Amino acid sequence: MNNEEASKPLNFIETIIEEDLKNNKHSGRVHLRFPPEPNGYLHIGHAKAICLNFGLAEKYNGKCNLRFDDTNPVKEDTEYVDSIREDIHWLGFDWEDREYYASDYFDQLYEWAVNLIKKDKAYVDESSADEVAAHRGTPTKPGLESPYRNRSVEENLDLLERMKSGEFKDGSKVLRAKIDMSSPNMHMRDPVMYRIKHAHHHRTGDNWCIYPMYDFAHGQSDFIENITHSFCTLEFEVHKPLYDWFLDNIIDDPEVNRTRTRQTEFARLNLNYTVMSKRLLLQLVQEKHVSSWDDPRMPTISGLRRRGYTPESIRNFADRVGVAKRENIIDIGFLEHCIREDLNKKAQRVMGVLNPLKVTIENYPEGQEELLAAVNNPEDETMGMRKVPFSKTLYIERDDFMEDPPKKFFRLAPDREVRLRYAYFIACKDVIKDTSGNITEIICTYDPASRGGNSPDGRKVKATLHWVSAKHAVEAEVRLYDRLFNIEDPYKTEEGKTFLSNLNSESLQIRKGYIEPFIKDTEPLDHFQFERLGYFCTDKDSTPEKPVFNRTVTLRDSWAKHANK
Ligand code: ATP
Ligand code: MG
Repeated sequence: MNNEEASKPLNFIETIIEEDLKNNKHSGRVHLRFPPEPNGYLHIGHAKAICLNFGLAEKYNGKCNLRFDDTNPVKEDTEYVDSIREDIHWLGFDWEDREYYASDYFDQLYEWAVNLIKKDKAYVDESSADEVAAHRGTPTKPGLESPYRNRSVEENLDLLERMKSGEFKDGSKVLRAKIDMSSPNMHMRDPVMYRIKHAHHHRTGDNWCIYPMYDFAHGQSDFIENITHSFCTLEFEVHKPLYDWFLDNIIDDPEVNRTRTRQTEFARLNLNYTVMSKRLLLQLVQEKHVSSWDDPRMPTISGLRRRGYTPESIRNFADRVGVAKRENIIDIGFLEHCIREDLNKKAQRVMGVLNPLKVTIENYPEGQEELLAAVNNPEDETMGMRKVPFSKTLYIERDDFMEDPPKKFFRLAPDREVRLRYAYFIACKDVIKDTSGNITEIICTYDPASRGGNSPDGRKVKATLHWVSAKHAVEAEVRLYDRLFNIEDPYKTEEGKTFLSNLNSESLQIRKGYIEPFIKDTEPLDHFQFERLGYFCTDKDSTPEKPVFNRTVTLRDSWAKHANK
């Protein structure tokens, strides 16, 4: 723990851990877990849960397991398992040799189910799914007991065994806990423990055709792994009595019960302009609204990585957002602020032009070239300097020139002088147009005495422009990403429409850019600031022949402005 951490006030979760440590509840152990279901790629909300669990394990010298909650074979896949592993490692966390699967516990869970039947605490129900639903009642109206609820223990044991051996069709029977059909907590109304699914499982293959429900696996998995604290999002608060009921009826030793896993809930991370449910993210991928799970517009960890987010920026974001007990919505501008802050410190600066206007320097000798010194990162001297080639024909940004400028436009215009960054003062002398009146080129002169961009005689210019030498620039595909949704709450739709109607049709614009030759040898995930344009990251599709860059964020920090008001 460093000093800064030590002086920060504890959040409610840390308070619980420290209290348990003080009382020696778990003999000094802190053992946590991150329990994803491998049914999709992880998103920024999961990143928060990862940072919380692995971060606390680090802070308290404890351990954190990675546990795949793989109880639903129909939706799960090894592709997801692999991506989850990669994402957690990329964030900088490690579960060492503690990679577990709920499916590792299928035998044990089955044995516990048999024991619950023997204690007359579970029964096989043959009601249809519709009947089960219809008989559940409502929070204010008790449910109806199933006609199969009072079968004998022997009959239940026999039926469960036959369910397991594959005798029955999907959906024809379920194993239910015998709790209380009039409980005010709907989860306690004889919840389903096992269902029949004749489906191949990514790990257990065809060994099983009955699978435990998540609720019959989660608490027990924590127990099996000797987890001290189980941190869940708020929606699991109402499941807690059920998890406790299962364990109370499974474990007979009161001392074990006293020290078993304690569940504590925290509010999930919500971000505006974003959807986070894996179901909806899957829909975006399957219906090709985005190119893939790691499309740079996705809120997935892999999407953010490809977009140019760094692990440090995400960890810092998760840390600063903190843990809350109540649902709240975080401004995505804050996430963008965190990556700007990090890249400002780290990113190599280069110059690139995305919408080129040709500039000919009339008085610059034909065929002459020179290399001008440029600072790699003004925030980090150790990154040193580089050389940028200059020649007679340049590109500047089309927006940086106006033939007939309004009052407040201070950049280049006829008979006006500006600075080309690290190069020279130039002044515009002439404008060349095509037959339809579009500007195709401007003619300028330069002042050789202003080499390096320094004023030779104290005269001032009002603007400094970025530029590239036409002959030396590297052509690149530049993908300008913007938010995926147009409105803060993408779930808010007109009647009859879905969240898809809120997709931002301008969330990707592709440009041909001209970048200074420094970027020639760039590799995927390199970070750059294209001066005055934003932060960019080399895409995984990039090759030396055809470099591809993704815009991570623009330089405008709306959040910082807002926050400082
Ligand atoms: P989603 O509802 O977004 O599809 P999930 O909760 O079903 O996700 P899991 O794979 O079950 O996804 O989640 C693994 C862990 O991550 C759980 O402990 C869950 O509480 C936590 N988690 C999921 N979403 C968020 C979030 N938005 N903020 C914080 N933690 C989250
Ligand atoms: Mg879940």
